[in-house]
Amino acid sequence: MLRVSYGQLLTSRPLFIPTVNLMNTKLETSDLKWTVFPKDDPQWDETSGLDEEKTPVRNYEICSIGRPGQNNWLRTNYIPRGPAVNVYVELTFTVLECASIERAGRSCKETFNLYFYQASTDLANDHFPPWMENPWVKVDTVAADILGRYGPRGASSKTNVKTLRLGPLTANGFYLAFQDQGACMALLAVRVFYRVCPAVVASLASFPETVSHGLVVSAEGNCVDGAESSMGRRPTMYCREDGEWATPAVGECVCMAGREEKEGRTRCTACLMGTFKPNVGDKSCQLCPPNSHTPAPGGTVCNCKIGHYRAITDPPTAACTTPPHAPRSIVAHVNGSMVDLDWSEPLDSGGRGDLYYEVHCLECAGNGPCISCTSLTYYPRPNRLVERKLRVSGLRPRMTYNFRVLALNGVSERSGIGAMGEELNVTTDRDVPLPVSGIQQMGATDSTLKLRWAPPHPPTLTGGNILDYEVKYYEKDQEKPLIMFLKTTASEAHLEKLRANTVYVVQVRARTEAGYGAFGGDSLFQTLSQDPEKAQPQVALIAGTAGVGILLVIAVIIVAIVCVRKHGVNKETDYSDKPPQYLIGHNAKLYIDPFTYEDPNEAVREFAKEIDVSYVKIEEVIGAGEFGEVCRGRLKVPGKKENYVAIKTLKGGYTERQRREFLSEASIMGQFQHPNIIHLEGVITNNCPVMIITEYMENGALDSFLRLNDGQFTPIQLVGMLRGIASGMRYLAEMNYVHRDLAARNILVNSNLVCKVSDFGLSRFLQEGSTDPTYTSCLGGKIPIRWTAPEAIAFRKFTSASDVWGYGIVMWEVMSFGERPYWDMSNQDVINAIEQDYRLPAPPDCPTALHQLMLDCWQRERAARPRFTEIVSSLDKLIRNPASLKITTREQHGTSQPLLDQRTPHYSSFATVGEWLQAIKMGRYEEGFRNAGFTTFSRVRQITTEDLLRMGITLAGHQKKILSSLQQMVPAEKVSSGPGSCY
Ligand code: AMP
Repeated sequence: MLRVSYGQLLTSRPLFIPTVNLMNTKLETSDLKWTVFPKDDPQWDETSGLDEEKTPVRNYEICSIGRPGQNNWLRTNYIPRGPAVNVYVELTFTVLECASIERAGRSCKETFNLYFYQASTDLANDHFPPWMENPWVKVDTVAADILGRYGPRGASSKTNVKTLRLGPLTANGFYLAFQDQGACMALLAVRVFYRVCPAVVASLASFPETVSHGLVVSAEGNCVDGAESSMGRRPTMYCREDGEWATPAVGECVCMAGREEKEGRTRCTACLMGTFKPNVGDKSCQLCPPNSHTPAPGGTVCNCKIGHYRAITDPPTAACTTPPHAPRSIVAHVNGSMVDLDWSEPLDSGGRGDLYYEVHCLECAGNGPCISCTSLTYYPRPNRLVERKLRVSGLRPRMTYNFRVLALNGVSERSGIGAMGEELNVTTDRDVPLPVSGIQQMGATDSTLKLRWAPPHPPTLTGGNILDYEVKYYEKDQEKPLIMFLKTTASEAHLEKLRANTVYVVQVRARTEAGYGAFGGDSLFQTLSQDPEKAQPQVALIAGTAGVGILLVIAVIIVAIVCVRKHGVNKETDYSDKPPQYLIGHNAKLYIDPFTYEDPNEAVREFAKEIDVSYVKIEEVIGAGEFGEVCRGRLKVPGKKENYVAIKTLKGGYTERQRREFLSEASIMGQFQHPNIIHLEGVITNNCPVMIITEYMENGALDSFLRLNDGQFTPIQLVGMLRGIASGMRYLAEMNYVHRDLAARNILVNSNLVCKVSDFGLSRFLQEGSTDPTYTSCLGGKIPIRWTAPEAIAFRKFTSASDVWGYGIVMWEVMSFGERPYWDMSNQDVINAIEQDYRLPAPPDCPTALHQLMLDCWQRERAARPRFTEIVSSLDKLIRNPASLKITTREQHGTSQPLLDQRTPHYSSFATVGEWLQAIKMGRYEEGFRNAGFTTFSRVRQITTEDLLRMGITLAGHQKKILSSLQQMVPAEKVSSGPGSCY
């Protein structure tokens, strides 16, 4: 098959219409040797000549004029059709005009006929196909457009070119036949061809050469390298009959990410280095955004240069940026208990527009350690601050506050280098008045409230005069209350024009030369109803934090009994300094029982921060909690230092109730902020397992820590620990929180020997909850008998005073390095002994003053027990005067009598002297006792120091242990069991 060359066509529109020749006589170099009819008198003559370009060509001529009835056939050789369905026959010929030929006669013709015959193989011979119209298919009768003429100097021929179409072809090939019926003509050239639409690249797809079938033909293209079909459809173009593509293509290909189209949509080339294209599509590559680059051509994204980042929400087209530099020039304007901080923008904001600030605060009193600030109010807020200023109020006098202003932006977290900050120390004036608390209602009508308060005492820490007070008040339960202020020089105020039967929130602050002090806590007061029927007697409300609602109403006559599950919010009125019916405002922040919330999960949300689980790494199991394992781990909150934490987990398969009880500990702990209370970092509730995360206390529980370090701390160190515990308890008591389970096992110790109160869970008190034998089932719940005050055991009177009793037991545990209170006396024996006013004796070497303090804590009358404030002061006095800790003589004070020391069990509980010696860890002397004849307890009771020395027991400590074991055995009848309510 001969093909025309049409070069590489690159556009959808070819430069010329390509054809493929099936036959071309012009290109034949030897005789054509076509078949003629009639064979015996052939009229068609094959001749050679030159064409217009003087190229030798093969021709066929005929001029059988003057003889009527001419039927001369000329048949071509077999022409395979190839892929063609329709083929074209281009004839180049000359015909002489009959009129110009002498004697041409009437039979002279100026036309000839063209036929074709299809055959699957080359089967023709001299007789077949027959030389007649049928079975041939006539294509046309061909007439010359321009006739040649015959003149005196011969023929002057005129060349005609005609193209005829034949088809549709179905067989493998065909023959052409020319029928002459009396013309004088010459066939100068015969070309048989078909048309094709050329291979072409268009719309980023390559379309193959496509044979035109005469009708429009569709062809599917293949996407070029680096392109893909858009919407999953290969593009299609239509090849027209004339060999031209009908453009445009239907559907298209588009360049992949990292490539762009070039050269009239014929190629997808890789983006140059430094440019990128993020998506598939027809967009061009674009320059990398600032501070990013592509490591190689064909980039789909530009990577950030070292030290530059994109925030997760930044699109790939965004510039790479850095965390900001530190803020500059922090300035503090202190005004009384308030400080306005402002600062300048960092010199470099990292190239981003999402700069924000965080302010961290530490408060440092004297030379003590600095702790996170508590009870400060920030305006507008200390986190995610966009403004460059922050108002902090509620500063306490004579304190140094360390403010650290951090600048952050959207990539601070990603950079992992922490925020850059600037620090500033602010020391509050000595003369700033202390907050005003204890506002009392002196009278009320339906439109007025008469209030009074005690001036802060002392007004300021260094004396100073109060100039006046400012009273701030507004209606509670208003979404946007109108806040009103009143100034008064006296420590009382008369609020007027109030609404009847409405609860008002009142706060008071005092002013001295140094400015205003902090406002005290919210106090709630209610005006009377206009309707005398509904008029209430002077109503006193105990305030909680704003928004908590009225928790308890105590009327003069009616004392409402509020039943709360574990910890009532009612500060024990008979333990309070004020008469119950008259206790009104309370400025301290009060503890809120999470179970007073309709939905305890709400309490968790309010008091505990939800921590992203990805910030926590669990490292090892360190203990077993009530609900699951307790682990040590690390907490890394973006922008903050990584810290060790303790992680309490809630083991799988829990009920909803267990989940609530487990998390209630977090809702309780989250309300406390004190250096001697375990600090809650937060909770993880939306992941499994549910976790409570607290600060990590390296030395674990105090009881086991002391047992491990028996005798290794000086009394002053032990008193330091006790002071910490008392301080934490004082804070809890001020918050109206009753712990109910104060014991050394529930105190945690950190690496600096700082003791912190922990264990705020309540499940162990529930009747069906814990199986821990420490907690004995009593009517209405479980009680740790040995640590619990008698009134709490007898009638569940749990108060801060019963916590004081527990504190006394903790003192005893500490001073005896973790000894078990009341040794192995039974619970009932303990109850009975206490009832008979026996009390634990001073542990060995315990300073008398400390034992005395313990005995004070164990006063039968709870009102006679010291308050935690007093305990803290007593311990402070001892610490300031260490000599007082050297006195260890056992004196008996007050009404209680010391229980005989039972650190070794009573001999009557042992069958043999050997067993007894083993029990007191003196088993090594068993043989000596036997050899010396001390084989019965009646003999052993007589033993003296000399006897011991004779037996070779020379160590003073061992002598003391054996003798005191004998002396301190409690007479059995003193602790005999009696009827009790606990089992
Ligand atoms: P709890 O469930 O609170 O009684 O904890 C069980 C045990 O886990 C304790 O006795 C400690 O040994 C240990 N533990 C609990 N919390 C912490 C903590 N914050 N730091 C160190 N150890 C802890």
